[in-house]
Amino acid sequence: MRHIAIVGSGPAGYYTAEAAQKQFGDDVRVDIFDRLPVPYGLIRTGVAPDHQSIKGVSRRYEETALTENVRFVGNIAVGEDISVEELQQLYDAVVLATGAPHDRPLTVPGADLANVFGSAAFVGWYNGHPQFADLAPDLSGGTAVVIGVGNVALDVARILSKTRQEFEGSDIVGHALEALAGSALERIVILGRRGPHQIQMTPKELGELGHLERATPVVDPADLPPEEADAALDPGLRKSVTLLRQFPGAKQEDKRVAIEFDFFAGPKALVGNGKVEGVEVERTRLEGDRAVGTGETYTIDASLVVSCIGYRTAPIPGVPFDERAGRFANDEGRISGDSAAGNLYCVGWARRGPSGTIGTNRPDGYSIVEKIAEDIGEGSGKQGRAGFDRLAEDRDLDIVTFRDWKKIEEAEEKAAREGAPREKFVDIEAMIRARGQ
Ligand code: NAP
Repeated sequence: MRHIAIVGSGPAGYYTAEAAQKQFGDDVRVDIFDRLPVPYGLIRTGVAPDHQSIKGVSRRYEETALTENVRFVGNIAVGEDISVEELQQLYDAVVLATGAPHDRPLTVPGADLANVFGSAAFVGWYNGHPQFADLAPDLSGGTAVVIGVGNVALDVARILSKTRQEFEGSDIVGHALEALAGSALERIVILGRRGPHQIQMTPKELGELGHLERATPVVDPADLPPEEADAALDPGLRKSVTLLRQFPGAKQEDKRVAIEFDFFAGPKALVGNGKVEGVEVERTRLEGDRAVGTGETYTIDASLVVSCIGYRTAPIPGVPFDERAGRFANDEGRISGDSAAGNLYCVGWARRGPSGTIGTNRPDGYSIVEKIAEDIGEGSGKQGRAGFDRLAEDRDLDIVTFRDWKKIEEAEEKAAREGAPREKFVDIEAMIRARGQ
C-alpha cells in the first residue's frame, strides 16, 4: 500500500489525487489536507463569482473526493498543526499543492496607503475567503486604478463595474454584492506598463467587457500598434488585440462607467494622506519587449487601487524556497534540500508559479504522480492515515471531513439568494458550526 499526503485541496491537489487513483488503483490511500474547513481552494475563492461554468469543475473533484481511497482532511494547517517533516515520516510521498495565495508585492512608495489592495485580498473579499471577508474596501470615490493587464485585472475591473442584476446566478458573497451595489465608481483605469501586444488577457474574458450593462471599455487608438503587426502574434493574443481594436476610443454616453485601458503606463508611486488619493504614473516606451520610462509623468486621481500583478507561494518553514520566482525550489516537482527525505513534491502554482488555466494543473498532477510512482515503488510500510489519525487525536485536532463539508455545502445552498447557487460562509467558526446542523 502506498500512502500519499496532498497539502491543498484546490485544482492541483485534486488532479493529483485523481492521477494517483488512476495510477495505483486500490493500492493507494490519499489524504488531502486543507487549512480551511471547505475544499477546492482557488475554485471557491479565486475564480470569479460570475464565472460559474468554470467553478463547475469542482463536480469532477467531488467524484475523486467521494471514492474510498481518497480522504479530505479539512481545518488542518500544515506547518502549524502538523509539520511537513511529520507528514514525510507518516506518508510515502507528500505533495505540496498550496498554490500561490500571497500577492506579488507592489514595490512603489505609498503601496501601504489605505484602500490599496493586492488582488489576493480583493478577490478574496468578493469571493468570501475568511481571511479577507473584513476588507471593507471604500467604493465611495469616483475612480479606481487596477494595476496589471492580466486576467485577474480583468476580473477585478469587471466585478467593480457590474450592476446588481448582472450578478444574478453568481455566488458573489452578500457583503460584496451590497458594497458594489452602492459603489460610486465611474472610472476604472487599467494600467499596463507595456502595450496592447503585451497583454496577458484571454479573448473570452476580455470580450466580456464589451457586454456590460453600465460600463464600457475604452482604448485610445493611438496606443495600438499598426494592424499589420498583429499577424505575428499567437492566435489567442491576436484575438485579444482584435477585441481591443474594436473597443471604443471614448466613453459611450449611455454608460455610467468607463473601463479605460492606459497602456505604456508604469506606476511610480501611490500618493495620499493616510488613504490613497492618486497614482503617479510614468509614461513608458518599449525597448524590444521591455518597458522603459520616458521621464514623462502624470497623476491619476484615484481613491481605490487594486494591484493585480501576480502571486507568490507561501513559504513553509524548512521547505526550500525560490525567493526570486516566489515558489518552492524544485526540479520538475521534486523538492530536494537539507530537510528533504526524498519524498517531498510540489505541483500546480506551488511548482511552476501562477500561470496557465485551471486545466493546466491536470497534466501537472499526472506528471507528478508518475514521478512518485518511480520514486516510491510499492510503498515502504509507512503508517499513512492511521498514523495521522493517532497524531490528530493526541493533539486534539478538529478535522473537518468531506461528509462534514457536504453538510456545510447544504447549509450554504439553503442560504442562497434567489437564483444564486449558494451563500458562502465567510468565517471559519460558522463553517464548522454548519457541519453540526
Ligand atoms: P498575469 O497574467 O501574470 O498578469 C500580471 C500582470 O501584471 C501583467 O500584465 C504584468 O505586466 C503586470 N505586472 C507585473 N508586475 C508589475 C509591476 N510591478 N507594475 C505594473 N504591472 C506589473 O497574472 P494574473 O492576472 O494574476 O493571472 C494569474 C494566472 O491566472 C494567469 O495564468 C491567468 O490567465 C489566470 N487566470 C485566468 C482566468 C480565466 O481564465 N478566467 C481568470 C483569472 C486568472 P508585464 O507583462 O509587463 O510583466
